[in-house]
Amino acid sequence: MSGSNRSIERSPQEAARLLRQRLEMGGGELYLDGMTREEALEQVSRAKGKGTRQRPTAAPTSTLAPTQAQSPAPGVGSSTGGAAKSSGALPAVLPDDYAGLREIALECTRCGLASGRTQVVFSDGPPTARLMVVGEAPGANEDASGVPFVGMAGQFLDLLLATVELSRKDSVYIANVLKCRPPGNRDPQPEEIEACSPFLLKQIDLVKPRALLAVGSFSARLLTGRDGTALGKLRGAVHTYHGVPLVVTYHPAALLRNRRWIRSFWDDLQLLRSVIDGDHA
Ligand code: URA
Repeated sequence: MSGSNRSIERSPQEAARLLRQRLEMGGGELYLDGMTREEALEQVSRAKGKGTRQRPTAAPTSTLAPTQAQSPAPGVGSSTGGAAKSSGALPAVLPDDYAGLREIALECTRCGLASGRTQVVFSDGPPTARLMVVGEAPGANEDASGVPFVGMAGQFLDLLLATVELSRKDSVYIANVLKCRPPGNRDPQPEEIEACSPFLLKQIDLVKPRALLAVGSFSARLLTGRDGTALGKLRGAVHTYHGVPLVVTYHPAALLRNRRWIRSFWDDLQLLRSVIDGDHA
């Protein structure tokens, strides 16, 4: 494996190619059997540091009216004028412009998590992205940096997305169900999801991605509307959220704990890629 390690040092594209090859050959251990997880992740983060991270700044030019399939979550609506700024209570109607939505989210004190946060973690990646990845909640690294998925799980996610040529530099927008870190990384509570998810759902409506990838059970249940359903039962199919195709898979942190799920994640990524490419029947 030392040859592979050198390849990972050389380029993330080469690392992605090796990962793809190993997965296609049925390998479950990926690069982790040739180097420690910490070494591998350090390589990934070094490779990542060479690219420039694009932050969402511009408002998208169009908006999506609340539509179709599912009933919107509490607090989601559409407005024609600018919404009042929030200094605690969420406005009954969130604004239809991206910058306005972000501004309100950054000041939100709608649930108890506000008092313990360092920063609101709104999103990463361009709001023009083809793919929107939805995670659970910020951890310590995200709370400190204000950027979602920058810890180990996030670096692993970046590597896996690179295997299907997707990157938050240009094609992936990432946000979480919760925008503030739960203490000790505990699970999101129902009242926190109810208070915060309108921001996420509005982000989806404004970004209008070509596809959604929900990682982990909290985002999967929220976006499929199938509360209480096991993640394993939601995987392997293309759902829709407000007309946007939605693929559901394991959280990258779970993959780091249970490597046998990596194969399934890989299958889900292939499904996602076919949806993005318009090849899915
Ligand atoms: N896990 C998540 O679900 N989101 C993050 O931003 C980081 C870790």
